[in-house]
Amino acid sequence: MKKDISIFMFIDALGWEIIKDMNFLEELLPYRYPALMQFGYSCTAIPTILTGQPPTVHKHLSFYYYDPVNSPFKMFKILKYLPSCIFDRWRFRHLFSKLIKKMKGYTGYFEIYAMPFDRIHYFDYIEKKDLFVPCGLAPVPNIADQLEERKIPYHISNWRLSELQNINALIEDMKKGEIRFAFLYTAAMDSLLHRVTKQGKEIPEKLDWYKDQIMRVVETAKQNYDDFKLYIMSDHGMTTLTEIVDVKTMIESLNYKFGKDYVAMYDSTMVHFWYFNEEAKNAILTKLLEVPHSHILTDEEKKRYMIDFEDDMYGETLLLMDAGYQIAPSDMGLNALPAMHGFAPEHEDSIASFLSMEPLDNPPKWVGDYHRIMLEKMNMIVKK
Ligand SMILES: [Zn+2]
Repeated sequence: MKKDISIFMFIDALGWEIIKDMNFLEELLPYRYPALMQFGYSCTAIPTILTGQPPTVHKHLSFYYYDPVNSPFKMFKILKYLPSCIFDRWRFRHLFSKLIKKMKGYTGYFEIYAMPFDRIHYFDYIEKKDLFVPCGLAPVPNIADQLEERKIPYHISNWRLSELQNINALIEDMKKGEIRFAFLYTAAMDSLLHRVTKQGKEIPEKLDWYKDQIMRVVETAKQNYDDFKLYIMSDHGMTTLTEIVDVKTMIESLNYKFGKDYVAMYDSTMVHFWYFNEEAKNAILTKLLEVPHSHILTDEEKKRYMIDFEDDMYGETLLLMDAGYQIAPSDMGLNALPAMHGFAPEHEDSIASFLSMEPLDNPPKWVGDYHRIMLEKMNMIVKK
């Protein structure tokens, strides 16, 4: 029996606009397809890729959603009396996040970001569990569940490790010649792009680094397997900052009481609103029309982006910024970044990419379609 391996490598933020004119691994992966981003952020796209399901099914859209009853932050109400000069520092917030994570036994990616301490107790946090392991997105099955179910020996990266550690871990596992399916996770491209933008001179250097590492993986596959297939995929691209819009100050100028009249969660490219009375709702909706470079998502858009939650879990109203216009300060950061993602999926800078060694009969149109391709490979392995 011929022994082969299918390797799916995920490079966070390797957008179509970034690679379409570059010959990044073109000889090895000549079949290149743009794919529509899932509306949201990586915390939305990764569950979509791992399950093939939209946010309305796997329930991940933003990190925070309104749920004061089940909020794990209730006990931290007291912190609102402490001086913001200490508690707004990123280092403190990071250490504090680690502490909560440990106390609550969370295994997922957990970071409180810049959420104010006098508001955090209105929210629950979605990513409590490690998404990449079996039951990580239960009750929705993810690729780990589907690999286990098919009894396929596999390797899925540990997202807590560095890219190089993950690449080395896969290479070591491949040397044993047992695994037949691999999901290699790398995320440093995303933070680099946020910092230097897609025009940064560091980007071609980083792509060269990936190329060298991927060739190490390819060499290991050639030495230990009769055949191999490699695919590279990303979740979104990156949009350079055009301008900052302070939506929060505009909303707060209305003087409605947060938590009593309404609740808002300020992401870096969108705002989620929950209302508790008609007066506040009408005033906020009127004010939102004045927010420059933005629009309120229509029901049709919510449906098309597959975020039309029946219970408005992520807010009754979603304000989305135009590509390039970031909200600052937001609950995710006090300052804007040189580049961001999380704008309209159709915008050219949002488009993700999928690279393959072989032509695909049914190429991915949306990042959730990567899951179908992974599942097809799993079923082929079982059949052999
Ligand atoms: Zn990012």
